[in-house]
Amino acid sequence: MNENKNISSQTATSPSERAGQRLCILGAGESGVGAAYLAQQQGYDVFVSDFGAIADKYKEQLQQWNICFEESGHTEAEILSAVEVVKSPGIPEKAPIIKKLREAGIPVISEIEFAGRYTDAKMICITGSNGKTTTTSLTYHILKNAGLNVGLAGNIGKSFAYQVATEKFDWYVLEISSFMLDDMYRFKADVAVLLNITPDHLDRYEYKLENYAASKYRITQNQTEADYFIYCADDAETIKVLDGKEIAAQQLPFSIEKQLVPGAYLDADNLIINVNKQHFQMSINELALQGKHNIYNSMASGIVAKVLELRNDTMRESMGNFRNIEHRLESVGKISGISFINDSKATNVNSTWYALESMTTDVVLILGGVDKGNDYSMLRDLVKQKVKAIVCLGKDNKRIHDAFEDEVEVIVNTNSAQEATQVAYHLASKGDTVLLSPACASFDLFKNYEDRGNQFKAAVREL
Ligand code: ADP
Repeated sequence: MNENKNISSQTATSPSERAGQRLCILGAGESGVGAAYLAQQQGYDVFVSDFGAIADKYKEQLQQWNICFEESGHTEAEILSAVEVVKSPGIPEKAPIIKKLREAGIPVISEIEFAGRYTDAKMICITGSNGKTTTTSLTYHILKNAGLNVGLAGNIGKSFAYQVATEKFDWYVLEISSFMLDDMYRFKADVAVLLNITPDHLDRYEYKLENYAASKYRITQNQTEADYFIYCADDAETIKVLDGKEIAAQQLPFSIEKQLVPGAYLDADNLIINVNKQHFQMSINELALQGKHNIYNSMASGIVAKVLELRNDTMRESMGNFRNIEHRLESVGKISGISFINDSKATNVNSTWYALESMTTDVVLILGGVDKGNDYSMLRDLVKQKVKAIVCLGKDNKRIHDAFEDEVEVIVNTNSAQEATQVAYHLASKGDTVLLSPACASFDLFKNYEDRGNQFKAAVREL
């Protein structure tokens, strides 16, 4: 995976030297179009190529900025004449054009690696299998409320590259996926957060968890002892890799199971943080984000805030008033005493586990979709304890029936968000919760998880 040889030669050039040098961008989504804008600003001869159709919004931007682009195919001669290629995280290593670039020895990097060259801002980078968006948003919220000149980017909102080209932030909070990390080489996180490592996207990692874990740990590459590495000490896979690894940065673990200093831990209902002789304490009942997984996320964000020496009272205020983003354990409301919760973003078994774990009532669970090789066994105990009925929302639900037929008496198949919501409503009684937390991707019946969540919410409102 680490096949780029010649990255440093690109970083050293000045705008005049870059003039006429071809920089190619593969994939014209948010990150690619932002990278194109920044590259043009830096004096490159920019060419954007997308194997599929480019969304109108991005085509208009490229046209407006006079940037050359093509769609629905790659013209190899144009791409192979580049000194460097910025690739969208969605393009896999096995794509023919990437193979050709590797053969030709042309460096391929991510948008984060590219844009990182053109800013002196300090970087707070958050990765993990689950909780990235939540923790990135919460961290940004805390820093912004504390008055820092901070930007929010990565897998979220406006592209990092576009913001580097147009803003002058002192700090960035970046949500970083493993696909982005695979194409990062010299970029350094001043503060790195690794939330957890659980099986996901293994199709891109030769179905080996250790390859995926190694990719996540690239968040620590290039760090020095002046930097920080924040991680979950309760996460088995994270610890397994850490045990055999040299980390230069100062380590700040967080745990619900044991008391850790420095770092964060739980003492009865209090979240305690100790970093560099500073102490922070807050009752978990006052946290805006509830549920065990969110205690972890709040701990990670809180440690970042203490690393930056933010004041305890502003931290407490922000951690208490943060509004969670859509589709993550989002409360949709109550009808006839039945609560409806939209957790459509739960696209793997682990996040559904945390959703169920945080439930305090009987649950009618809406589950299913595109199963990426799920192992449902880890849900069995919680399903037995809390779930009175399962409503399957997917084209093929056989694996769900097989996994839970001994645990749950009622398992019903449905074909649309509306049907699933109505059936769940009829199966639930006053005081119960209807939870959409599918543990699966959404592409069989929906455009994406947002579409699934929105259709669910619309169906709830129609009840
Ligand atoms: P990501 O950006 O990593 O996909 P999100 O913050 O969007 O993560 O949350 C995705 C899903 O995972 C949601 O269903 C959420 O409830 C669940 N989740 C959030 N934080 C965690 C965590 N620390 N561990 C496990 N699951 C989590």
